[in-house]
Amino acid sequence: MVDLKGQYEKIKTEVDAGIQEVINSTAFINGPAVKEFQADLEAYLHVKHVIPCANGTDALQIAMMALDLKPGDEVITASFTYVATAEVIGLLGLTPVLVDVNPDTFDIDVKAIEKNITPKTKAIVPVHLFGQCADMEAIMALAKKHNLFVIEDVAQAIGADYTFSDGRKAKAGTIGTIGCTSFFPSKNLGCYGDGGAIYTNDDELARKLKMIAHHGQSVQYVHDVLGVNSRLDTIQAVVLKAKLKHLDEYAAARNRAAAFYDQAFSSNPNLKTPVRSKKSTHVFHQYTLQLGAGIDRAKLREQLSERGIPAMIYYPIPLHMQNAYKSDRFKAGDFPVTEKLCACVLSLPMHTELDNETLQYIADQVNELTK
Ligand SMILES: *Cc1c(COP(=O)(O)O)cnc(C)c1O
Repeated sequence: MVDLKGQYEKIKTEVDAGIQEVINSTAFINGPAVKEFQADLEAYLHVKHVIPCANGTDALQIAMMALDLKPGDEVITASFTYVATAEVIGLLGLTPVLVDVNPDTFDIDVKAIEKNITPKTKAIVPVHLFGQCADMEAIMALAKKHNLFVIEDVAQAIGADYTFSDGRKAKAGTIGTIGCTSFFPSKNLGCYGDGGAIYTNDDELARKLKMIAHHGQSVQYVHDVLGVNSRLDTIQAVVLKAKLKHLDEYAAARNRAAAFYDQAFSSNPNLKTPVRSKKSTHVFHQYTLQLGAGIDRAKLREQLSERGIPAMIYYPIPLHMQNAYKSDRFKAGDFPVTEKLCACVLSLPMHTELDNETLQYIADQVNELTK
């Protein structure tokens, strides 16, 4: 699905030297690269504060802790997402209110958000799924009207640009109250272990986020609030600093691969290629097809695998049908779009190192097995 080795080969000199320097200096925690990467990412995103942390799930949890949400508060998020989004809501004793997504862009359905707002609703967590932004302008308007926080889950869409109706542009994750991202190795900006970050333009919130990520500590050994221990280590910061310089190139390479696939599948009636949002660029964390009703997905995956092609299902089971998230609030059948997508999506290999020969081979095999 990804070729992290090929990508590494191109930045090997810088990464190897940087990692060796960390080992020589033994500044494994809070070494200079952490601050440098933080500043580089702030500049890249045009955001006032980036707070690095240990992973994307922690980023979401710390964000919700910083907003002082209380047990019983309702948080609205998409039913079609990675489990981490809903997990932290439940973990903090908040009530996850799942809503359906749009059938074309896979993003959270804004009308469904509005329908589910109650006096207990405190926050909306849009997920910029597979690499393009949810409809942030509409979501921010709803949030303003109902006085809600917006926590963007930008784990899959770092670098995507959202365009407002007045032409103004902003990077994914910098529009809401807080943005949360992940540097898991296979993410668009991935490190060589775990990593994550939180973004905000709010000075006071930034102070609080930093404090929570660091044991709730304001001054050494003074703990003002309940916190966690969540750090980005120096070696990961070295890798991320080197890769951030190439992030736009990486997105361009992913877009080239996506355009190749689009073209190759354009006359295949059994495949629906990804629909581009009119308001967001796409950074193609995933290239996700919708298979026609006549196609046996399990068999197709097996046949592709026999031909050396991995293909993944993101995500096979909707959140509201997972045992851990069963609730009186929703039952099977409540989110028809999510349920349909979970049954028909298939993601093809998508990364920065796909050449035309490989893409042609994948496309030919997929076409042959589905036409
Ligand atoms: C990867 C991911 C996360 C969690 O990130 P980790 O770094 O693995 O904790 C959260 N939300 C979404 C949508 C993701 O894809």
